[in-house]
Amino acid sequence: MTIKVGVIGAGNIGADHVTRLASQVVGSAVAAVFDVDAARAEQVAAGAGAVARSSALEVIEDPGVDAVLIASPGELHAEQVLACIAAGKPVLCEKPLATTAADCLKVLDAEVAAGRRWIQVGFMRRYDPGYQVVKNTIDDGTVGEALLAHMVHRNATVPGSFTSEMAMTDSVIHEIDTTRWLFGQEIVRTTVVATKPSPLAAAHLRDPQIVLLELAGGGVVTVEVFVTCQYGYDVRCEVVGSTGVVALENPTANALVTGGRRIEAVPADWRVRFGATYLTELQEWITGLRAGVVGGPSAWDGYAATAVAESAVASLETGEPVAVGLVERPGLYT
Ligand code: NAP
Repeated sequence: MTIKVGVIGAGNIGADHVTRLASQVVGSAVAAVFDVDAARAEQVAAGAGAVARSSALEVIEDPGVDAVLIASPGELHAEQVLACIAAGKPVLCEKPLATTAADCLKVLDAEVAAGRRWIQVGFMRRYDPGYQVVKNTIDDGTVGEALLAHMVHRNATVPGSFTSEMAMTDSVIHEIDTTRWLFGQEIVRTTVVATKPSPLAAAHLRDPQIVLLELAGGGVVTVEVFVTCQYGYDVRCEVVGSTGVVALENPTANALVTGGRRIEAVPADWRVRFGATYLTELQEWITGLRAGVVGGPSAWDGYAATAVAESAVASLETGEPVAVGLVERPGLYT
């Protein structure tokens, strides 16, 4: 059985996902593509043997579409995911589930009312082999009790439109989900700490920033987000346990050893670092759908991550710690 996917948003990651679903994932095909840029939609659809549609709703309601992948800008996600639930179509929504916790709750309410899971959120790090080793090492007790973690999220550069708030909502949101998943706990408070700004960051941008994430069980995670680090895409983490440490380094394909030095490449960008991870994410989504199952990061995970990111934005503005207030977790997500 082939799952015929409709894709909404054919930009950076949407176009990549179309290629993966059309030619690399086993058991999927791309049936329809929509993007506000009609020429881009036509081009991406043609490359995948799909048709370009003239609205998101046309994709969602297309009887030839079994499942939907949303890769449009974040502020459109809630409305498009709600339309998928109304149409009874499973959906993989790129992060964020929605840009406000209030909108995420509307999505949660709709999914709970539908009585089953339709939504997977694109927190792909959970499918990364390196992160999975960290998770398994914590879960099997090899490093004792996990106490704290240090995380680093650095990009070489960002577009001029990138803001200090986006460092929380677009970048650190990955560390927020990773933290919740690795520790199996909710984040209860965030604090954003001002640091000396890089002279190479745009004047409007506070960069780098340090974010403290406090967990319900008392653990603390530090996240350094530095989106103009110049040298590459550097995502690492180190979890400190009561009897040991488990660290995630950049995956190394090759190393040059010369002149008394060992030189390893840093990935150029997120496509290089997580390309294989996105493929695993999509393959598991499709394999699940073929078996009639929606798994992976849930709408609850999407809601919790956005709520924490929102608190980080509030802390960025005030410099004070900000509590995260989550609603009670519905039974669908336990
Ligand atoms: P992008 O390159 O700007 O692509 C978004 C595309 O959606 C653009 O072609 C945009 O067209 C189009 N669009 C605008 N309004 C639309 C609408 N109403 N319906 C359908 N398409 C519409 O952005 P991106 O980098 O691919 O990011 C897309 C989403 O994926 C974001 O939510 C982002 O956070 C997420 N993302 C996730 C990861 C990850 O690691 N999981 C990585 C990258 C991105 P115009 O350019 O003409 O507006």
